[in-house]
Amino acid sequence: MEFRNLKKQYQTLKSEIDEAVGRVLCRADFVSGKEVGELEHALSEFTGVRHCITCANGTDALVLALRAWNVGRGDAVFVPDFTFFSSAEAPALCGATPVFTDIGTDTFNMSPASLERVIQAVISEGKLVPKAVLAVDLFGQPADYDAIGRIARRYGLLLLEDGAQGFGGKRGEKRACSFGDIATTSFFPAKPLGCYGDGGALFTDHDGWAALLRSLCVHGKGTDKYENIRIGTNSRLDTLQAAVLLVKLKQFAETELEAVNAIAQAYRESLLEIEEVRVPCLEEHSYSSWAQFSVLLGDQVDRGELQEYLKDAGIPTMVYYPKPLHEQAAFAGCVLYDDMCGAGYCCGHVLSLPCSPYMDRQEVDLVCDTIAQFMKKRR
Ligand SMILES: *Cc1c(COP(=O)(O)O)cnc(C)c1O
Repeated sequence: MEFRNLKKQYQTLKSEIDEAVGRVLCRADFVSGKEVGELEHALSEFTGVRHCITCANGTDALVLALRAWNVGRGDAVFVPDFTFFSSAEAPALCGATPVFTDIGTDTFNMSPASLERVIQAVISEGKLVPKAVLAVDLFGQPADYDAIGRIARRYGLLLLEDGAQGFGGKRGEKRACSFGDIATTSFFPAKPLGCYGDGGALFTDHDGWAALLRSLCVHGKGTDKYENIRIGTNSRLDTLQAAVLLVKLKQFAETELEAVNAIAQAYRESLLEIEEVRVPCLEEHSYSSWAQFSVLLGDQVDRGELQEYLKDAGIPTMVYYPKPLHEQAAFAGCVLYDDMCGAGYCCGHVLSLPCSPYMDRQEVDLVCDTIAQFMKKRR
């Protein structure tokens, strides 16, 4: 069994992808070819956001957004303690201080209550200037943007949505990547919408920021590439990746999102019967793109043993994430303004199971039956 079945996806889309790639190879416009603009247009339609700017990867997207806002030294950027490293790496790379908030163990997303406690603590300490909230749509579910947005407005903070794992998710009818003042995503192959290498994108309704982002990702260009009006960087999405993504986005919207939700639903139903396993919780009116299907194991369960047992049955699993960010060596000595109990708990108990739109029901049954067997043997 594959953890994320990318080979089957390629087999399904092979003729269209091969043709799309072939067209770019023939034209040889590998950078800034027409597919890049077409993709930006399609992504903007899909998310309902006015501007989409593609770039080289999801980490660059976060850095570019923070640079567009001039976030730097002395600024605090509030980041959940339980996420992929990039979410906190990006503010640090800009010279700002990532300040960690705890998460809710039901959704794995930023806890609005913790966010507010942390903002107040930073304000009363008076050393850092609160600048932005960087909320993450972890494992495919958008964060609680009603509450987080209210808090950001109350304290005059910019809201950056890290939608690297959230692309395709929704709250009500509003799509992920439309919640932040700027939102970002990643097209790393294993993300909900992945390309065949690295890729990323930024989304914003703000015309001025969009123009600034377009300049920053091409060497600070002015009206043309050889007029440089600021220090930018080289962060573009290749034409080949855009061509692949145009094919994949269509499939994503037409069948994959629905298919992966059916897989998640099948998991939830089967796993509900196993008392040592807590299935992921969706907020009301929330729709996930299931970047991961992550469960929480009971205190008595030895996660390593379960992983070995599943591995022997040919079932790959992953621990996303084994350490809260504040425990990463790169953030040694960071100041905590709240306890990180939720993040700590999830790191100790989380397990991500194989999940993709190309998985079939028998595979879900095999995973669930094998977990049930393990629990029974152990009792
Ligand atoms: C993958 C990921 C990123 C970074 O994306 P890359 O394209 O790999 O640079 C950022 N944030 C989160 C939450 C991610 O999962």
